[in-house]
Parts: sequence; C-alpha cells; structure tokens
Amino acid sequence: MEIGNIFRHLLVHNEAFVKSTDATKFLAYATRQNPYITLVTCADSRVQGNILGIDIFNKVFLIRNAGNQVAINRGSIEYSILVLKTPVMLVLGHTDCGAVKFATHACITQSKEIVNLAKSFDRLMQTDYSSISREVKSEMLPLTIPIERGIPYLSKLGSENKELAYLSQINVDYQIEKSLKYYGGLVKENKLTIIGGIYDFVGAYSKELGRILITNINGITDTNGLQENAKAIIKRIPNYDESSEEYKTVCKLIEEKVTRI
Ligand SMILES: [Zn+2]
Repeated sequence: MEIGNIFRHLLVHNEAFVKSTDATKFLAYATRQNPYITLVTCADSRVQGNILGIDIFNKVFLIRNAGNQVAINRGSIEYSILVLKTPVMLVLGHTDCGAVKFATHACITQSKEIVNLAKSFDRLMQTDYSSISREVKSEMLPLTIPIERGIPYLSKLGSENKELAYLSQINVDYQIEKSLKYYGGLVKENKLTIIGGIYDFVGAYSKELGRILITNINGITDTNGLQENAKAIIKRIPNYDESSEEYKTVCKLIEEKVTRI
C-alpha cells in the first residue's frame, strides 16, 4: 500500500474507532490502567493482541520486540510486574519467526561444527542477510544462545515448520530462564506466574491454525509436569464447578494445547 492510502486510513479508521466506541469505555481507564497480563511477544505483524480472543484494552500490558526478548525491555517489563503488579507474565513466541531464522542462519554460518542436519537449513542458507544493518543484527544476535541449544535436536523433527517452531520454543524457554533469574522470588511467593507459549499459524503443533500452545510454566518444560501445573492453576478458580461441561472443555483444551514439540 502506498503512503497516500496509508495516511488516509490512519485518519479515517481512527475516526471510525472513535465513533464506534462508547465514551464510557474511555472514562473507565482515563486516569489509571489495570492490566492483568504482561505480554512479551515478537514485533512480527502476524502476531497481534487479538489472538488472545479478548478485548485487550486495559487488560494486556504489551511489550514487543524482535524475537520476544526479555533483556532488551526490562524497564517496561518491571514496570508492569512490579508497579502494576500483573499476576501473569506471558512470553509468547511464534512460528516462522524472522528473528529466530536470522539467529539460526548466524549459527549455521559461524560454526564449522554444525553440519546440515535440518530440513530448514537449505532454505535459510539461501537467504541473504548481508544488507541488514548493525543495529538490527545486534538486537537479534543474542538469540543465537538459545538457538545453539536447539539445533542438535532438529534432525528428528521431520518438517521445516516443526524445526522453526521448535527453535522458537527453545527461545521462549531461554527467555523464561532469564525472567526467573530476575523475578523468580515473585514466582516463589505465588505473586507471579510466568507462562511461555507459541502462537502457531502454520500447523507445526496441530491442524488447528491460530492456536497458542502453552510450552512452559514457571520454567517447567516436561509435558506431564506442564499439564499437571495447568490443571492446578485452573483449580485455583474459586467455586469452579468441576462437574460442568465448561470444566470438561477446559481439561480437554489443556490436553491439546499444553504441549511441546
Ligand atoms: Zn518473530
């Protein structure tokens, strides 16, 4: 889209938003915010707050950068966790992440020890990143630390989509490992739960496109431990009727969505 139409959209669409939003909605948060999730996710345009399926106004403190990294936005994260006291921090990676691909390419080209074990490597090696600026590189290169951990496990995954999703998953684990170093005390006191997930829009985890898979809870990464924790978290809902159909649906969703590659 060219600049004239983009600028016209900016004016027209915001005005449509103004006209379609009840003024009381703005008044409800005119002088303070009350988010309950700190969401650290990738800046990728395919990943947006509405994938959570809720109206995210005043609910989600949204922090975004290339590769959903914790270290480069610690100030904003700490404001949300320590000042606004959100009880949940969600670190959300996604499939086909450009930052993960860049870091993987860097790992392959910089290490002589890495042989071509993975299906995704051929296509990655054909990508030319030489024109990328130093600033872009310096923001994404820290991701080579988790990617190096993930590379040895790629050969048995069987598809490009799965390989890249797995590397995003390992990156989320790494970001949560860092978060626990900084905020593990709050987790121990039950004041904060750190959840890791992958937004899957390519079908790497299941045939259901658009799912958020839960791949890490407070550093726990084995599927059984994850599912047990997920069920324990659900049981904290006061007076939740465990004989209801809704509860059965939630338990089924835990089985399907709290899982890893
Ligand atoms: Zn990304």
